[in-house]
Amino acid sequence: MTVIDHWINGAATAGDSTRTAPVFDPATGVSGKEVRLAEPSDVDAAVAAASAAFETWGETSLAQRIRVLFAFRELLVRDEEKLARIISAEHGKTVDDARGEIARGREVVEYACGLGDILKGSFSDQVSTDVDVHNFRQPLGVVAGITPFNFPAMVPLWMHPIAIATGNTFVLKPSERDPSAANYVAGLYAEAGLPAGVFNVVHGDKAAVDAILDHPGISAVSFVGSTPIARYVHERGTASGKRVQALGGAKNHGVVMPDADLDFAAKHLIAAAYGSAGERCMAISVAVAVGSAADPLVEILERKAREITVGPGSDPATDMGPLVTAAARDRVTGAVASGAAQGATVVVDGRGLKVEGHENGFFVGPSLLDRVTAEMDAYREEIFGPVLAVVRVDTVDEAIALINANPYGNGTAVFTSDGGTARHFQRKVKVGMIGVNVPVPVPMSYYSFGGWKDSLIGDSPIHGPEGVRFYTRVKVVTTRWPQRAQDAGAGFSFPTSN
Ligand code: NAD
Repeated sequence: MTVIDHWINGAATAGDSTRTAPVFDPATGVSGKEVRLAEPSDVDAAVAAASAAFETWGETSLAQRIRVLFAFRELLVRDEEKLARIISAEHGKTVDDARGEIARGREVVEYACGLGDILKGSFSDQVSTDVDVHNFRQPLGVVAGITPFNFPAMVPLWMHPIAIATGNTFVLKPSERDPSAANYVAGLYAEAGLPAGVFNVVHGDKAAVDAILDHPGISAVSFVGSTPIARYVHERGTASGKRVQALGGAKNHGVVMPDADLDFAAKHLIAAAYGSAGERCMAISVAVAVGSAADPLVEILERKAREITVGPGSDPATDMGPLVTAAARDRVTGAVASGAAQGATVVVDGRGLKVEGHENGFFVGPSLLDRVTAEMDAYREEIFGPVLAVVRVDTVDEAIALINANPYGNGTAVFTSDGGTARHFQRKVKVGMIGVNVPVPVPMSYYSFGGWKDSLIGDSPIHGPEGVRFYTRVKVVTTRWPQRAQDAGAGFSFPTSN
């Protein structure tokens, strides 16, 4: 049995942990590894290492910090295949899909490499006689990231490259379901020349999260995961005086207009609904078919859903891998059953799928539900699996009203050939990230990523300019040099300009 250690102060360590959790290969259902679950004292040790490292890292020049990020970026390219296989073996997604998440995460490193330009402050000359004003940003100190299972490399990469490039030190608490990617990344940082203690990994569950949220040595917490935990993290973290960004769950709608190229729309909806077995926060889980688009769309979706090859993520012929755990598989089959019981038409039923040679894997086939309504549980709940629900409406405004009434607001897409419809849609819909004929509109790293409503608790999206703002604090300096000043007299009245 392999035991996955924490990574504290530049080395793997068991720390004080006595508890462990099993880590499964979702394609076989076998657990050949276990991960240590941190005690609060392990979090203390990571924060102590990060605090000590901050003393020098926070003072290290921008040029030197960015050189390390450049080297780290090169190592992520070199080891993409290796890291992708590590992710696939614990998450279940295909190796190709895992390579995609590494590539998208690497873009944040590339953004952080350009920080010299982004961090430039402002300078105002002669704002008052002989007085100038400038501002600059400084790191916060020790910051933490708490991340979900579905992107074990990319989501942490949304956080630590920017935090570290801006001069902070970092404690990552990854998902306990696929923990190995975090340790691999820690090794790459060390190889890139990052000093010990700047990047630490503490594995664990609620006990580790609570210790992070309450820790007086941590200045800010970035969280990505489900909405109830995002809300909890935001409340408890801010209550203890921390800056908190907390990204939550999603229910993303793809609207298909009658004037859309239906083959194109269906192809992209299928990929967006079933890619990574639907375990993406930007997955499309609801297809909103407008007017006459509905019947032909469902017909094409059914055909394409039946063509999907389900198998282990390590097999290059696989389109869709297993779910992450047996519990996730059972949640998905339960959602299909509840849809059927509440009146939806089960067009494609993924329940009971067996993959030859992998009978104990956590597999479910793609499922397609038609004539779903907003009252059904299959619509209301975030299933986070390979289930696409088709809701039929008559007009684009009905589609927009449906989306706006949904508590989530992460991503959405409209498929249309009409620019006016697309413009109307993007202006009226209450969602943070919108695609026009683009089903998974994940913003590039130089924009920020974040939804609206229950998909983002608090007010801080992640990476891009918002990431730099989140991990830094601004100082505004007003300067006068008295020996040169015309009139440096001090007054008791509130200072005004002259
Ligand atoms: P999760 O909320 O169960 O776990 C996220 C993190 O919180 C993990 O590190 C976990 O250990 C920790 N955690 C879990 N339960 C906790 C508790 N009771 N107290 C304290 N900490 C706890 O999420 P998940 O299942 O790992 O990931 C899937 C969810 O993440 C989905 O809801 C998905 O939509 C969401 N997600 C959102 C985004 C986004 O950008 N908005 C991105 C990826 C995933």
